[in-house]
Amino acid sequence: MRLDHLRQPPVRRILSRALATGRIAHAYLFAGEPGLGQEEAARAMAAALLCAEPDEGGACGRCPSCRKLAGGNHPDVLWMEPEGSSLKTSQVADLIRELRYRPVEGRVRCVLMAGADTMTMEAANRLLKTLEEPPSEAVLFLLAADEERLPETIRSRCQRVVFRPLPAADLARDLEDQGLASGDRAVWLARLARGNPGRARLLAEHAHLDDLSARVVDDLARMGQGDLPAALEAAEQWAALDPADLALALDLGERALVDAWLLAHGFSQDAAWPAADQGMEALAAAWGRTDPERVLTAFARPRRRLDARVAPWAARDVVFLERQQARR
Ligand SMILES: [Zn+2]
Repeated sequence: MRLDHLRQPPVRRILSRALATGRIAHAYLFAGEPGLGQEEAARAMAAALLCAEPDEGGACGRCPSCRKLAGGNHPDVLWMEPEGSSLKTSQVADLIRELRYRPVEGRVRCVLMAGADTMTMEAANRLLKTLEEPPSEAVLFLLAADEERLPETIRSRCQRVVFRPLPAADLARDLEDQGLASGDRAVWLARLARGNPGRARLLAEHAHLDDLSARVVDDLARMGQGDLPAALEAAEQWAALDPADLALALDLGERALVDAWLLAHGFSQDAAWPAADQGMEALAAAWGRTDPERVLTAFARPRRRLDARVAPWAARDVVFLERQQARR
């Protein structure tokens, strides 16, 4: 990946300007939900910094350094990620020790730190000392989904670079270019993924997305029609889903109900599902007049519980009860 291929124009501008002027920050904070291209950007920047013959668009992609980086074995690129649920003090201590050495081949050493926001307080304090007196031959890339979790003292010593979701139309076009989807399906995936390319790719490659989606739309339509036995049966089936699929079902359900409202109010151009989708027609008829804010609130709680790794059956109860409540 070259810098000029990054799909985030502001990010591209900031990093390209740094390369062009030679004013490289000691540490960058790449902020934004995962999947927006942070890893690609960090790799592209590292490649450009280490490349033997970079141009204004980034690394050449052909020199020995570029080939090593592509092969994942460049000695001046250090890759860190959380061990378990957090980045630990021992990992940061190892890094600091490593940074005492000069670059092996390139001009700098590049540290790609995924999940930087999971750093423990003690690890953050260790890292802070390094950021206060940064080694001149190192560039750190801190990737943080939730930058607020990093201490202000760390954030203030990094150049902040924000990654944002793409407009759905742009992402749909990318999915087509990558051969992952086309036409209405590409738009559907882009909107389901809320403009997040990493998420769109996962959805596109999901083995039974269509089955799950059809089932969610159908279940919600029947709940909306007040079919109580069907609703109970659906709730049981949702409960049997593994947590990843349940999370996806909640996502699909939330978006489907937003679409139901959009379709019922004549905003089909903003909907993820095509207006002609049969299941969606039934859903719009059953739910289209329900206050969308109440619908979204109804989905927020099971999602939080799921995030907190509460057993799926608990989420099941909440889904069902909240759905009934939102109907009142
Ligand atoms: Zn190169």
